[in-house]
Amino acid sequence: MTALKTKISRLIEASGPIGVADYMMLCLFDPEHGYYTTREPFGAEGDFTTAPEISQMFGELVAIWLYSAWKACGGPLPATLAEIGPGRGTLMKDMLRTFARLDPQFAAGIGFAIIEASPRLAELQKQTLAGVPTRPEWFGHVDQLPDRPLFIVGNELFDALPVRQYVKSADGWRERVIGLQDDGSLAFMAGAGSVDAALLPPDATSASEGSVVELAPARSALMEAIAARLERDSGAGLFIDYGYERPAVGDTLQAVRRHAYDHVLAHPGEADLTAHVDFAALAEAARANGLDAHVMTQGDFLLAMGLLERAGRLGASRDAAEQERIRGEVDRLASPEAMGTLFKALTVVPKGAAIPPSVADGTGDKMARTAPGGTVRATAGPRIDLAKPLPHHPALSKSDSQGR
Ligand code: SAH
Repeated sequence: MTALKTKISRLIEASGPIGVADYMMLCLFDPEHGYYTTREPFGAEGDFTTAPEISQMFGELVAIWLYSAWKACGGPLPATLAEIGPGRGTLMKDMLRTFARLDPQFAAGIGFAIIEASPRLAELQKQTLAGVPTRPEWFGHVDQLPDRPLFIVGNELFDALPVRQYVKSADGWRERVIGLQDDGSLAFMAGAGSVDAALLPPDATSASEGSVVELAPARSALMEAIAARLERDSGAGLFIDYGYERPAVGDTLQAVRRHAYDHVLAHPGEADLTAHVDFAALAEAARANGLDAHVMTQGDFLLAMGLLERAGRLGASRDAAEQERIRGEVDRLASPEAMGTLFKALTVVPKGAAIPPSVADGTGDKMARTAPGGTVRATAGPRIDLAKPLPHHPALSKSDSQGR
């Protein structure tokens, strides 16, 4: 029994079953026992590996997108370049290095910001970024950012925000809740609350009893807050996560503990708890606030941003083992068998702005799952021959290939 499980059980005894969203919030952000408030979840030592932890190329290409978005918006200064939910701070570190080489004037002129909900992770980010020449400022919420153009990125942020679940019962859709069984264990149950049928996905009508639907008002609310600010002050955003392009019936709530799946109710506070992201809902929240939104796969996004060219450049002067490592990173980030298809990139840009890439893929598979980070095996992927250097990426020079 984890300490948080005891706390949740007492809460349920005192006031009845709790919704899935409340359970997620407690598991991730309980001030005493929450996963993000108490643990070091990232990297080989942690529970999962994210794209910036896999390869420096991810941060470099994201930086190039943000820089071209800034240029496409007229290169406004002063402006803010922000990351929301940076985990260890690796992506920001790679971006800062890239901006400094790409355009030192931009790097010196723009204000860097980090938005982080966990004070403990904010401390960790400060350690990661201790030596950088342009130190970001930390904020707890997007509303606290200065009122000026904003260029913002979030990687694996939305999956950590809570979802509500509804389960189909004999008398219709009911909120899925977590209650206590006679033996004191936590269990999923059908609660008393229902849901507005207009919010359900198209396949909900034909779903069988026991089917689960997920809705995430907290995610839409955060996207609306970001989009409203982008619309008001100008700017653009890029959000990458695992998820689906079209809403559908399905239970995607998952717990990952020590690089392996865990039962969602088994170790509250000790496992990472996420649910796949409904990209259609996020795009809709952005469009409702007057922006254009484009969803594509992570593989398409990174390849369009020049992943192969960058890998070729990075590997050109390396030995065979290093080239193999870089090739492996490309595979993990972009091949359909690894992160390339399951992960999506959502760009939110001013209406009518042409900020490439904006390729639509349309292969939303809600139930596709990748293995927890670190155990992903890519079997096929983009063909890349690092022995023959690929054309230079125009935005980065050879001196960038020093790793981190
Ligand atoms: N982007 C990182 C970490 C992803 S984990 C990476 O790719 O490795 C999710 C991160 O989002 C954590 O840092 C978590 O504390 C933060 N987070 C979760 N909800 C948040 C919110 N509402 N506002 C800001 N940060 C949040």
